[in-house]
Amino acid sequence: MRGLFFPACATLALMAAPQTGLAAPTRSAPVAQPIASTIPVAQDIAWPGGTMQLEVDATDTERRILSVRQTIPVKDGGPLVLLFPDWLPGQHAPRGQIEKLAGLRFTVDGQPIAWRRDPLDMHAFHLALPAGSRTVVAHFQFLAPTVGNQGRVSMTDSLLNLQWNNVSLYPAGYYTRRIPIQARVTLPKGWTAATTLKSTREGDTVSYEATDYETLVDTPIYAGLHSRTIDVGNDAQLSLFADTPDELQPTPEQIAAHRKMVAEAVALFGARHYDRYTFLLSISDTLGGIGLEHHRLSENGVQPGYFKRWPEALGDRDLLAHEFVHSWNGKYRRPELLWTPDFKTPMQGDMLWLYEGQTQFWGYILSARSGMMSKDETLDMLATIAGRLDLVRGREWRPLTDTVLDPVISARRPKAWVSWQRNEDYYNEGLMIWLEADAIIQRETNRAKSLDDFAKLFFGMNDRDWGVLTYKRQDIVAALNAVVPYDWATFLQDRIDRTTSEVTKAGFTLGGYRLSYGVLPNKAIAAVEAADNLVDQSFGPGLIVANDGTVQSVIWESPAFKAGMTVGSKILSVNDMDFTPQRFRDAIAGTLTNKKPVSLIVKQDKRYRTIPLAYSGGLRYPRLEKIGEGPNSLDRLLTGRTGGTPLN
Ligand SMILES: [Zn+2]
Repeated sequence: MRGLFFPACATLALMAAPQTGLAAPTRSAPVAQPIASTIPVAQDIAWPGGTMQLEVDATDTERRILSVRQTIPVKDGGPLVLLFPDWLPGQHAPRGQIEKLAGLRFTVDGQPIAWRRDPLDMHAFHLALPAGSRTVVAHFQFLAPTVGNQGRVSMTDSLLNLQWNNVSLYPAGYYTRRIPIQARVTLPKGWTAATTLKSTREGDTVSYEATDYETLVDTPIYAGLHSRTIDVGNDAQLSLFADTPDELQPTPEQIAAHRKMVAEAVALFGARHYDRYTFLLSISDTLGGIGLEHHRLSENGVQPGYFKRWPEALGDRDLLAHEFVHSWNGKYRRPELLWTPDFKTPMQGDMLWLYEGQTQFWGYILSARSGMMSKDETLDMLATIAGRLDLVRGREWRPLTDTVLDPVISARRPKAWVSWQRNEDYYNEGLMIWLEADAIIQRETNRAKSLDDFAKLFFGMNDRDWGVLTYKRQDIVAALNAVVPYDWATFLQDRIDRTTSEVTKAGFTLGGYRLSYGVLPNKAIAAVEAADNLVDQSFGPGLIVANDGTVQSVIWESPAFKAGMTVGSKILSVNDMDFTPQRFRDAIAGTLTNKKPVSLIVKQDKRYRTIPLAYSGGLRYPRLEKIGEGPNSLDRLLTGRTGGTPLN
């Protein structure tokens, strides 16, 4: 990469270079050999040093500095490599925030010792321990983001999401499940902490039960000033944290819906892969949002209003179900190349269309079955998902199987032309594939079976075992065939491995519905427009505009694309009047009758342009329309399995 400045001496050197005429061109001589990386590969053997002790001081909430003291007992001297976790489960990509580690120093049996970072792996630190060494102590800080452009805000004046991978190191050369550790955290005065690990408390210091390093990283904590714990049955609890106590007051019906969601999930899978389960849920606009799965816990972060403005929070209401399903799909059953022995080995997400795609599917289905979402809301969500996927022209060049690499390729950075580049489409396109699979199973078995049978067979074995059971693609095909014989291998190949012109909507049509378009926004789009302050005209002229006129998305080859509009430009006027969201909507609606282009004045950087937006389709929003009489397979799919009346 090119640096910011050319040093002045380089220019002088060029000017002073002798004219060598026909002499051979000068080439620099090698001055140093690259230092080879010498990080031991993880082995399935016990760390011989004994239990590491981790102490985290989390009291500096104003400056958001986490101070760490970690004691690592060792057996003897020699080389030791300590690693900062990089490849993190659930992230599907290397996301270790090594740049936030600072102030690193080590002592060995009380004496300072030098460290050297590995030249090839920025997350590895080499130490040369003197003979007879007994204890290495590491001191460092994790400088949590003070604003969002430094990364997700994980610490505020009243909330903390402590992920142990940010505040600990581990010795290279051992499976992380073979490295014992005990963690302790000191909290600000009066704060409460929650996680699934058992703990004891002395003053403001919470000590967690000794565990292995893999489990510790899989069991983060939430802590804060305002919190509440609610039992939701089946050994699961909601641990709520918020900026203000008024966000912690769910209605009895809302609690009942969460309880039913848990019960529906347990009924679906038929076995549990946890002894106890904690939904960590922050309701905050200061702590960064999150949805991250763990085996016996999930980290969930939503905006204020989750309980107080329930109808507007529609976009967040499948989150807990999604992350809970991961306890089965993703944590217990894991694609074999996504399981790694440590947090250094790269993961391969080649089956994320099951890991995430079917989790996305069950997240919505369980939300509908439990009343976390009404049936109408769920149908509107599904219509919106399918409508958006229909706008993804990138499907023509990039098969779904390639999008599983998007977490590594894009790391969720914003994109200029997402409908052409594609995104992490294995979530929602995976959902559409599993919706079709359910409809096929129901059809082929005369309604006797459904995708529920696959879920029970594939995820629901070995009750209370919370190890990891890996699988290959042929195991998925075999389980589908065990539910009902069908050419499932080709079914998956056609939808996942090949480029396609259109996302499958057979789950709708076989299920008794069809995707159609109308002039009124459905509940899902209305909720997003209200929550995110924007106008979503993706399905008509092909753009999303913030309420201040800033263009947030332009659909590839849409009328807006053809008119030359881009993300980041700003609409200043609509048909010669100041831009307002309503005026923009009205102008789009008017095209249906006046058949005239909408005249926009658009500012991009310093340039103003008048753009005629050639479009005459009016307002256009997706919805599902029932075809045929009586309940069909999609209706059956959305019906609760545990009895009782859903909330909505
Ligand atoms: Zn997920």
